[in-house]
Amino acid sequence: MASTNDNATAQPAPLYESAKKIYPREIKGRYASLSKLATLVLLGLFYVVPWLQWDGRQAFLFDLPERKFYLLGLTLWPQDFPYLALLLIIAALSLFFFTALAGRLWCGFACPQTVWTEAFIWMEQWTEGTRSQRMKLDKAPWSWNKLRRKGSKQILWIGFSLWTGFTFVGFFTPIRELAPLLVSGTAGGWAYFWTFFYGFATYGNAGYMREQVCKYMCPYARFQSAMFDKDTLIIAYDEKRGEPRGGRKRSVDPKEAGLGDCIDCYLCVQVCPTGIDIRDGLQYECIACAACIDACDSVMDKMNYPRGLVRYTTHNAMHGDASRVLRPRVFVYAALLTILLGGLITSMVTRTPIILDVIRDRNALYREVPGFVENIYTIKLINQRNVEQVFQLSVDGIPGVSLDGVDELLPVEGGGVLTVPLRVRVPRENAYGIMDITFTASVVDNPEEMIEEGSRFVGLMP
Ligand code: SF4
Ligand code: SF4
Repeated sequence: MASTNDNATAQPAPLYESAKKIYPREIKGRYASLSKLATLVLLGLFYVVPWLQWDGRQAFLFDLPERKFYLLGLTLWPQDFPYLALLLIIAALSLFFFTALAGRLWCGFACPQTVWTEAFIWMEQWTEGTRSQRMKLDKAPWSWNKLRRKGSKQILWIGFSLWTGFTFVGFFTPIRELAPLLVSGTAGGWAYFWTFFYGFATYGNAGYMREQVCKYMCPYARFQSAMFDKDTLIIAYDEKRGEPRGGRKRSVDPKEAGLGDCIDCYLCVQVCPTGIDIRDGLQYECIACAACIDACDSVMDKMNYPRGLVRYTTHNAMHGDASRVLRPRVFVYAALLTILLGGLITSMVTRTPIILDVIRDRNALYREVPGFVENIYTIKLINQRNVEQVFQLSVDGIPGVSLDGVDELLPVEGGGVLTVPLRVRVPRENAYGIMDITFTASVVDNPEEMIEEGSRFVGLMP
């Protein structure tokens, strides 16, 4: 009877288990200092770069409405899309290269999620205290102290998030103009929307979701295993040396006590921002932040044991096999990266900063005027330099061909586009059939800087 009641009241196991809040413990050490430095440098770059000026304009600006990307002295136009595609390929290949070489180095030290989470944790520590103080505060009933600490954390988080959203928008809209507009309430609706949207995303991802973004949302965490092999640098616990684990006094000789070097203090687990135990082996949740190395090294120092129970190593090295970090796949990635980077730099340095587009008027095949046959074209001349240039336009390909209806010299302002309709005339005796012609635009001050564009001339049909 009792068992029937038990069955009737038993609750089904929940399909979803809510995430347990992680309270990462603060740690000092070599890698913590490196991580702090990386965070400060990367955050510094993000917040400072949009304020830099170059030639009287924003040095880095992705002007989407104007369809122009400004990168220092370089202006990229929609026609330069291949450069952008190449840049993305290089970025992806760099990720493969560094993963093959050093595992999840990107995740641990340079990923925006890691960097902003680190900054949010600093603010949490300043306002709510150490790990144990934070845990105590969360369990405590609401009081003036709790309200004050939680309130100041929220003020810092929200302020920092909004500044992040504003800075992000400042990469796409001139930031020096955006700032007063936002403050005076006269910026466009989209500027407010994106500022709040990115601010909210920063607040949610770095403030609350933290390790869950890495565990459940980041695709890189999922496919990294495909890029790992037994010679990839990983952070691992030396099981042979550490086991059997167990607590002991510092004066106890572990060998005599039949123990390994792990004193089972859980410090490596407490510092882990994703809440895992490195002693359970390589796990996809591990972002390779190396906090557990610092933690364990500090314990080893206190116990007078050699450092490195948790360390950077490779699967092969850990198992006593020969291991080499520089292996064929690293060289292949390095070679590909060098070729692509070389190609990108060469083509950017040698590119002609003029774009010439020729569109033939398709409404009329040709027009006869006394002694000549005419075709109509629209020429688009783009000056990719930041200063005005004067161009000379010419055409050839057919004996006697000439331009009509266009000035001899065409000034185009820096970063400007000139659209000119014009006629191409060919003496009647030479204007039979469909013929190739070539337009040339050359810079008057530097005739060697020129661009050619081919088109068709439709003449009389024989
Ligand atoms: S296991 Fe170690 S390296 Fe991996 S995330 Fe946790 S603390 Fe960082
Ligand atoms: S910090 Fe080191 S000694 Fe302490 S539990 Fe982790 S591995 Fe063991």
